[in-house]
Amino acid sequence: MKAPILVINCGSSSIKFALVDQPPGAPRISGIAERLGSHDACLKLEEEHGNRRDISLPRATHALALKTILDHLGDQRPVGIGHRVVHGGERFTCATLLDDTVVRTIRQTVSLAPLHNPANLDGITATRRLFEHLPQVAVFDTAFHQTLPAHAYRYAIPEDLYQRHGIRRYGFHGSSHAYVSERLAEVSERGHGGWLIAHLGNGCSATAVWEGESQDTSMGMTPLEGLVMGTRSGDVDPGLHLHLARQLGMSLESIDLLLNQKSGLLGVSGLTNDMRELEQAAGAGHPGATLAIEVFCYRLAKTLAGLACALPRVDGIAFTGGIGENSSLIRARTLGHLKALGVHLDSAANSALARGSEGAIHDASESGSPEIRVIPTDEEGYIASQTRALITRLALADRSEEAV
Ligand code: ADP
Repeated sequence: MKAPILVINCGSSSIKFALVDQPPGAPRISGIAERLGSHDACLKLEEEHGNRRDISLPRATHALALKTILDHLGDQRPVGIGHRVVHGGERFTCATLLDDTVVRTIRQTVSLAPLHNPANLDGITATRRLFEHLPQVAVFDTAFHQTLPAHAYRYAIPEDLYQRHGIRRYGFHGSSHAYVSERLAEVSERGHGGWLIAHLGNGCSATAVWEGESQDTSMGMTPLEGLVMGTRSGDVDPGLHLHLARQLGMSLESIDLLLNQKSGLLGVSGLTNDMRELEQAAGAGHPGATLAIEVFCYRLAKTLAGLACALPRVDGIAFTGGIGENSSLIRARTLGHLKALGVHLDSAANSALARGSEGAIHDASESGSPEIRVIPTDEEGYIASQTRALITRLALADRSEEAV
């Protein structure tokens, strides 16, 4: 047994989990409990060797789903639990051992992430009750970006809003950007240096990383800022909200719904938020799908070029997330807009890279031009290794105190 860590990601009606070994590889068991609270709630398990099982859990609560997950771990007991927490505000700059005080402090950040943190907290509360004896650690999506300088994280609005209400840019997808940054340092001859990382999943964000530290990132106070995403608009004119309210009589709630759930790839294409389907539709000549892909790639390229300002030099660009790892078309289209950064794509290597695998896709004969790499992300592996490192350090600290 390799000291497995149970990684838990609690949403408002779902719980994703994975039991991750050291070193992290494919999780020995993972899954998702979906539609919790509804009559068709269900736990989908994926065990080692690809065995899949669906267990119906009608009207299950988070607590019941967690208990069922625990039962299915059998004798594979974790040594600790790592929780994904979306927002850590300014208070949390790294993975943190959960106790009552830390839970109270996370509760204070709920106003910054009203859609995510309450669900994360429900999961933490239920899990702490079920696994009383196990150390539990919160790993924050925002923590990696706490190295941003003030000129990158402050909005140009009155200071009071920052000082009294914490209104600033925080950034998200921290576990993914941190994992990819560490992996780049391992696989690239250029090591840490200056990297632009594009995490492109249903949510999308890009980050400028220098020597392993985040310097600027595209998401802001909420995960709505920045790039075009599956159903989120990303950046719009801040005056748009007022216009929609005054001219179209829209309520705040309907504007929120519009920009978070009806926009992005879905809104522009009028078809779907799924990039695979969009690529097929664009291939068949669908104008909305064609435009959605073009807006997505152009906006991504423009953001990457802007983020280059945060770096002394651009050693490379890395793609990750479901779209970044799998779509050679999106990588090629995006890089096509970045000639000004001196990028040279090896088109054959880009097309030939097997879906979901790691690889370099730049033209290596163009020495001095930025590397271009695809790095499959591993947020669960990162949360597990942060959790394991912290509990190992704390156990060592306890032992050294005993020795004193
Ligand atoms: P999440 O943010 O929910 O974790 P993922 O990282 O799984 O999402 O990314 C989902 C996106 O990746 C979807 O838009 C999906 O269409 C896209 N995707 C997955 N495989 C491919 C592929 N082979 N080609 C293009 N897009 C893909």
